Amino acid sequence: MKRVLQSIRKYRFGMVALFFALHLAALGVFFVPFRWSYVSLLAATYVIRMFGITAGYHRYFSHRSYKLNRFFQFMLAALAESSGQKGVLWWAAHHRVHHRRSDKDPDIHSPGLRGFWWAHVGWIISNDYDEYDPSLMKDYSKFPELRFLDRHYWIPVVLLAGVILSIFGLGGFLWGFVLSTVLLAHATFCINSMAHVWGSRRFSTDDDSRNNILLALITLGEGWHNNHHRFMYACRQGIVWWEVDFTYYVLRVLHWMGIVREPRGMRLPRNENEAQA
Ligand SMILES: [Zn+2]
Ligand SMILES: [Zn+2]
Repeated sequence: MKRVLQSIRKYRFGMVALFFALHLAALGVFFVPFRWSYVSLLAATYVIRMFGITAGYHRYFSHRSYKLNRFFQFMLAALAESSGQKGVLWWAAHHRVHHRRSDKDPDIHSPGLRGFWWAHVGWIISNDYDEYDPSLMKDYSKFPELRFLDRHYWIPVVLLAGVILSIFGLGGFLWGFVLSTVLLAHATFCINSMAHVWGSRRFSTDDDSRNNILLALITLGEGWHNNHHRFMYACRQGIVWWEVDFTYYVLRVLHWMGIVREPRGMRLPRNENEAQA
């Protein structure tokens, strides 16, 4: 009983209440007249913001997989933060911790160490990781505009919510913001939880990371998580042609347009022995 009480105290109830309220509000889609335009809006806000998370929070800010100029860097950070998944420096710092000792103490979200629920959502709505180690983010925290966005991470979310509500009304808001944000959160969280449990392993990495096509489809390519743990700095995560990686396809187009610079490649192992090493 004492242990249960201690673990309950870890949670910040303001955040837990907000998280549950968002889920309850998402059920509101059943109480507004159905329109296909709402479904299109949901798809657009999901896919565009998922790109912000995968290309921004993850491949750019956590792993420096490519370069951008300062304007596009700021825009990408703002887009990623419109997902409601906290600040850009906070997100990337915790992800860098995950890669330092994946699935070993003190990995902050390992399903093998602390259970599925904790890895999926517990760690993010608890009090344990509100802070981050600033020494991990010196490469990006030197930009004052990123520090501002990180501190005020609620601004892009509130702006997006306001724009959608004013243009598309309550129905559009419930589909295109509330439901989209809930789906986006769980799809992202699945990489921390399911992608370390469910799927196949091409490389014998020093962790439990998996490749999973379903997770790759709902996260625009992040489901090739075993490949990613093997080549964490690479711009792409799918290796063979059927390992669909929509984030990488868009980054290639942006590279062709001159926006993305110096994408870091995936040095493929010369032979299978090295692949298994
Ligand atoms: Zn991982
Ligand atoms: Zn990563």
